[in-house]
Amino acid sequence: MQHLENEQGCQELKICIDDLPDHEPQSFQGRLEVDECPRLLEMVQEPPGVVDYEFTLKREAQRILIDGQFKGQLILTCDRCLGNLEFQSDENFCIRLQPEQDLARVEDETLLTLKELEWDVYDQPTLNLAELIEEQVLVSMPAKNICDVECRGLCPGCGVNLNLQNCLCTKETDDHPFAVLKGNGSQIDNFQK
Ligand SMILES: [Zn+2]
Ligand SMILES: [Zn+2]
Repeated sequence: MQHLENEQGCQELKICIDDLPDHEPQSFQGRLEVDECPRLLEMVQEPPGVVDYEFTLKREAQRILIDGQFKGQLILTCDRCLGNLEFQSDENFCIRLQPEQDLARVEDETLLTLKELEWDVYDQPTLNLAELIEEQVLVSMPAKNICDVECRGLCPGCGVNLNLQNCLCTKETDDHPFAVLKGNGSQIDNFQK
């Protein structure tokens, strides 16, 4: 089991593909610090938290097969009330990579099969594993975040969080000294039609 250390405080967990033994699965485990993953950081609230991962990486000639899982707790924003919600990130993932030049070579017969298997392409001699895992975490996140099925959201009129307090717009209208006049006005309008 190899432990990937985050040496200089930057989220760069790079491995050189040619250094990997062929057909010999390697196990890795480590932790992503979300505040060092720019794309993920954009999606979460404070505190950014961490995502733990472990995976097996196997090189088959120039192809890379990664299978693993990650787990972490992230704070997201509710799309309705803009409050915070806790999201348990806990997924298995598999990544299939092959060099770009291979893709061109197999274009005709096998491309379809490769696409079906969802092979991705790498174009560098090194892989940044942190980036790959960050991507998997991003993909696993829900498209819509709701803190509770009962969440009442924000009032479009007065902007209050309706989970925490009552809407202020109706109250204001009722108390408004001209509320009655306004009512009369609309009655006249109706009458004229
Ligand atoms: Zn909400
Ligand atoms: Zn309101």
